[in-house]
Amino acid sequence: MKVVVIGGNPAGLSAASAIRRIHSDWEIDVYEKDQYVSYGACGIPYYVADEVKNLDQLITLTKEKLEEHRNIPVHLFHEVIKVDFEAKMVLVRDLKSPKEFNKPYDHLIIATGAKAKSDPCLDIDHPRIFKVHTLNHAEHLKSFLENNTIDSAVIIGSGYIGLEMLESYIAQGIKGEQISVIGPRLIFRSQTQKYVEAELKNYGVNLILQKRVKRVEPISDTHLKVILDDGQIITTDLIQISIGVVPATDMFKNTNLELLPNGAIITNQFMQTNIPDVYAAGDCASSYHQILKKNVYIPLAPAANKQGRIAGSYIAGKKDSPFPGVVGTAIYKVLDLYCATTGITQKEAKQLGYDAQFINIESMEIAHYYPGAKKMSVSLIFDAESHLLLGAEITAPSTLGAKKIDVFATALAAKMRIDDIQKLDLSYAPPFAPVWDPILIAANVARKKCR
Ligand SMILES: Cc1cc2nc3c(=O)[nH]c(=O)nc-3n(C[C@H](O)[C@H](O)[C@H](O)COP(=O)(O)OP(=O)(O)OC[C@H]3O[C@@H](n4cnc5c(N)ncnc54)[C@H](O)[C@@H]3O)c2cc1C
Repeated sequence: MKVVVIGGNPAGLSAASAIRRIHSDWEIDVYEKDQYVSYGACGIPYYVADEVKNLDQLITLTKEKLEEHRNIPVHLFHEVIKVDFEAKMVLVRDLKSPKEFNKPYDHLIIATGAKAKSDPCLDIDHPRIFKVHTLNHAEHLKSFLENNTIDSAVIIGSGYIGLEMLESYIAQGIKGEQISVIGPRLIFRSQTQKYVEAELKNYGVNLILQKRVKRVEPISDTHLKVILDDGQIITTDLIQISIGVVPATDMFKNTNLELLPNGAIITNQFMQTNIPDVYAAGDCASSYHQILKKNVYIPLAPAANKQGRIAGSYIAGKKDSPFPGVVGTAIYKVLDLYCATTGITQKEAKQLGYDAQFINIESMEIAHYYPGAKKMSVSLIFDAESHLLLGAEITAPSTLGAKKIDVFATALAAKMRIDDIQKLDLSYAPPFAPVWDPILIAANVARKKCR
């Protein structure tokens, strides 16, 4: 069997590894257009902040290790530019030479990921405009910050990448007051939004919401102007553009491959597309949302890894392990605030016909007398009639509180009711939690609103 994998990051390599574990003799070729494979873009903010010193630390396996230890040939600087689904052939361009060649496949795995959104009004060619989507971007930005004195920065985009990067700029010596974040809205739900706004204010960060950047103009080689749609002008030393991502599926737009309107490839639970022997996994694909009961686009690493593994296992013959989908779990660090979310919003729940209720509690994250104890917040969304949990969000002063979201994510996957959550046997000792864990307190409050 010949397997071609497009993309050498979590999804593509999880698929290739799953096949190799079962079939040592199959021909597997991974084509990767970039110079790096097997890395976590998730670590980029912490690398730029210098909490992670070397770029190599973000790389799990190099091309050499993949070939030597896993027997997976990886072709760097090789871009797949076209797929002929009829002939079962990919057209590959060797980016180091002008050569192009056809490669036949029996099974094709598309794991091309996402690409940073671009906007012609913002993407002007200037040495002080940066994106943070790939390791090359990260390397470029960190070396720039280390070799130049930067006093101010504008982050265009108020999504999680924009906000996670705040700590990088502050760690590199830029004062919070000299940083602006501009975006239409914060991605967080109502309660978390309140805490995030307070955290940014605490650091003096200038948060500009509900405005659009009209255009970006260079003043000189070292300064730029950001012009907002209301005429406001911000001059800055550096601009980061992080206005979201889109699936990297342009080459499939005029093909028979079924896509969501945003270009995400639609698959079934085994990551099969509508075209025989063609699979998709990771940020280029949609995920089935277990509560919304439809395909959505939530490009995050845990799903990318699982989807890749499931696609590979299925191709290799393990046909009993479908991907159940996601419940919308995510976690972010915004300066000193830890935010997490899972499930659906109250608005979405109402649209699905639930008697959707919302509660919010504040409670100590650990025993009130234990050193360092601070408050955290838990919000729940649930159906007052069936008592079914539908969503949760947390903000906490540390990872300890924020990771409690996983209990709610598990509860959602298990379709637990508020009554079941109230009685969970959760761990307790003063450094870890109060004796009434915030999860239980939230469930107790929610139960009072159930019918
Ligand atoms: C700054 C940043 C922070 C993040 N933080 C988090 C986080 O904290 N938690 C989380 O869950 N997720 C996070 N993510 C998202 C996470 O990195 C992705 O979900 C994950 O990398 C997806 O893996 P993937 O293999 O599907 O795609 P990618 O990692 O995007 O890999 C796709 C690969 O395919 C290659 N490729 C594309 N087209 C072609 C082609 N035509 N030919 C050959 N090669 C091609 C690309 O070069 C790329 O290497 C973050 C992302 C960024 C950018």
